[in-house]
Amino acid sequence: EMTPSEVIETTKATGLRGRGGAGFPTGLKWSFVPKDTGKPIYLCCNADESEPGTCKDRVIMERDPHQLIEGIIIASFAVDCHLAFIYLRGEFSLGYRVLEKALDEARAKGFLGSRIFGSNYDLEIVLHSGAGAYICGEETGLIESLEGKRGHPRQKPPFPAVQGLYGCPTVVNNVETLVNLPHIFNRGVDWYKSLGSNPKNTGPKLYCVSGHVNKPAVVERELGIPLPELINDVCGGVRNGNKLKGVIPGGSSVPILRPEEIDVRMDFDSLAAKGTLLGSCGVMVIDETACMVRLALRTARFYAEETCGQCTQCREGTWWMEQVLHRIEHGEGKPADLKMILEMCSNMKGVTICVLSDACAMPVEAMVNKYREEFEYHITEKKCMVGH
Ligand code: SF4
Repeated sequence: EMTPSEVIETTKATGLRGRGGAGFPTGLKWSFVPKDTGKPIYLCCNADESEPGTCKDRVIMERDPHQLIEGIIIASFAVDCHLAFIYLRGEFSLGYRVLEKALDEARAKGFLGSRIFGSNYDLEIVLHSGAGAYICGEETGLIESLEGKRGHPRQKPPFPAVQGLYGCPTVVNNVETLVNLPHIFNRGVDWYKSLGSNPKNTGPKLYCVSGHVNKPAVVERELGIPLPELINDVCGGVRNGNKLKGVIPGGSSVPILRPEEIDVRMDFDSLAAKGTLLGSCGVMVIDETACMVRLALRTARFYAEETCGQCTQCREGTWWMEQVLHRIEHGEGKPADLKMILEMCSNMKGVTICVLSDACAMPVEAMVNKYREEFEYHITEKKCMVGH
């Protein structure tokens, strides 16, 4: 009964913000799509979930694929898209099989295809498996990959809403973002806005809690649950009664919080005010037995492996960062290394085509600044403070 613009306005009214990491308002993103270009409009569901610590989209796709398909149908109708794509992480073989079967079921029941339920609306959804590259989760890397090229992010502008897949207007939405839609249209704007910590952070949210907690889990709560409540009440507290050393609240690319900083709500703006990010909501809990130097090294190594190599600061910076952290971790660090790492970090932020370079620099910079004594101990004593 609703028109596409009513669907967009309703979504805008809920305050739904993208759940993939950036937190951009979903309805507003749809409204940027030009309607009169004469070109087809595409929708890409970003299901290339690869951020370390994050495993929420996988659970949705494996356990409730029709919720996602329904969300894609609603979003496609809103932006006048008739061909949508699900770009699935290559490693998600179970998710692929589950989604493939669910798409067949949706076609058989008439939810997809031509003239859906006697309307003038046609929609088909193509399921595409990636080849296992983290960078294809970046929206323009995803589009390049879908076009059959290397997953190299594109310089923006133009943004995908104007010039995306095959040069046509394209909306890229995350899996969790899309599965909010069936509930919004079943239960209404007021219900949706009754959830969340404030009018700018509304709705339900999936939290992936891993690391040193007694009950690691993917759990759904309101957006903005207090972080101590999530760790202690929902996930059983730090394992073995150990002391908390830090929490990475939004996947490996965001700055870590020290124990004295965790009194914060898990929403976009509260975490930003603390100098970190909600990101992909991969909450990694770290106890006193972990070595921060090793964690920084592991983080840098991941991004050094996943850089696409187009930008010098990212290609060389991630590699160099890994080398310096490797020598500190192995007792061969030099007194000037920490200053050099921090300089590298500032040279890697805000200067590249996509944010992978920042995603390496931000967490390493925070670890060095907030746990500096551990790095210095490795350099001067040539061993680990916590006995690794
Ligand atoms: Fe590639 Fe890194 Fe540049 Fe992103 S920042 S485009 S991953 S080189």
